[in-house]
Amino acid sequence: MNYDVIVIGAGPAGSIAAKTAAEKGLNVLLVEKRQEIGVPVRCAEGVSKEAISRFVDVDRKWIAAEVKGAKVYSPDGTEVQMTEEMAGDEVGFVLERKIFDRYLAKLAGRAGADVVVKTTATGIERGKDGLKVNFRRMGEEFSEEAKIIIGADGVESRVGKWAGIDTTLKTDELEVCVQYLMTGIEFDPEYSYFWFGNEIAPGGYVWLFPKGNSTANVGIGILPKMAKLSAREYLDNFVKENYSEGEVIEMVAGGVPVKGPVKTAVADNVMLAGDAARHSDPITGGGIANAMKAGFFAGGVAAEAIEKGDYSKKMLAKYDELWKNDFGKSLHRNKILQQKLIKMDDKTLNTLAHSIAGYDLQEFSVKRLVTELIKKNPKLLWDLKKVFI
Ligand SMILES: Cc1cc2nc3c(=O)[nH]c(=O)nc-3n(C[C@H](O)[C@H](O)[C@H](O)COP(=O)(O)OP(=O)(O)OC[C@H]3O[C@@H](n4cnc5c(N)ncnc54)[C@H](O)[C@@H]3O)c2cc1C
Repeated sequence: MNYDVIVIGAGPAGSIAAKTAAEKGLNVLLVEKRQEIGVPVRCAEGVSKEAISRFVDVDRKWIAAEVKGAKVYSPDGTEVQMTEEMAGDEVGFVLERKIFDRYLAKLAGRAGADVVVKTTATGIERGKDGLKVNFRRMGEEFSEEAKIIIGADGVESRVGKWAGIDTTLKTDELEVCVQYLMTGIEFDPEYSYFWFGNEIAPGGYVWLFPKGNSTANVGIGILPKMAKLSAREYLDNFVKENYSEGEVIEMVAGGVPVKGPVKTAVADNVMLAGDAARHSDPITGGGIANAMKAGFFAGGVAAEAIEKGDYSKKMLAKYDELWKNDFGKSLHRNKILQQKLIKMDDKTLNTLAHSIAGYDLQEFSVKRLVTELIKKNPKLLWDLKKVFI
């Protein structure tokens, strides 16, 4: 075997997995198909402070802005405010992911992992003891062997399919997103903003994450099945109405899995982490924090498996246990909420917002917001009570 572990994909999940495994003394290869790690950025870059500081020392170089709360708007413009005075914050930093993703890969390299870019994994073949991974690099084909593969290859993951793990997404399980980096617009830079409504963003929402004074990520996620227009048309309409004074200096498009996590993220010799395992949140679409957590758990379990000389699905099931115990329950809960929310008409969304309008919820989390809504609207939200309270 050339390697103990090959990690495919150098996003937050892959880099943290490679770093963790290398720190435990494993021989690790981290492979990224893009020529520059972190570019292009397909992300609004909002993340909780707590989640980030669990895995890396915070470095101002990759923080674009710090927010103290969120303002959420219903279709008729009713505002609900949440501030981050209590624990449980879900957004606090707005990252500079171009720098952040590269920083995480550097940490993996410094821990001893081999890092290669512009190299695409094209398939895996089973050998007697481990796996052979085939790669393409600038027209050249080659392969490497490893005892364990960690598939951290994001929303378009192929590793799961190659390993026989069900990662399929139906059209209503993938949010289609478009985002502009806008400058010259006015907003309070201490807040992130979210707008809901079937005319604004069917099956999703519009967001604004500050990246300093007058510059922000303004984006949209929608479920195409519910939409009359394309995501870009909805976003253009929103921008025209609210931020017509601004200039668009960058544009990205991408997908976010909102299916909820895979039932199992392991097969013999293989673990999936982050978006590859559908670890992103079905409500917020946020996936950075869970990707880092999953990478950490996968790297740790890889080390245990190598030590025991056992790379079977049964051994790697410990990884499933770890991520399910950590964030699996909240993904499950938020999937139920997402199914309920996407069926609500604008009138109901307004009714909910009116019931807590003017509140400052003192905590920045979906759970806190929904708990308050259930208290005020017990009949409307009776079915959420058993999962949220
Ligand atoms: C528009 C948009 C806005 C978002 N906003 C937020 C947000 O504000 N907050 C948040 O927490 N999350 C957000 N997300 C989600 C977040 O970006 C992802 O959940 C997160 O990046 C997942 O990390 P990951 O490491 O699993 O995958 P990724 O970051 O996608 O990394 C996967 C890597 O694998 C590489 N790769 C893929 N296939 C191969 C292959 N065959 N061989 C080699 N390399 C390969 C890719 O090039 C990529 O670099 C957003 C997503 C989108 C699309």
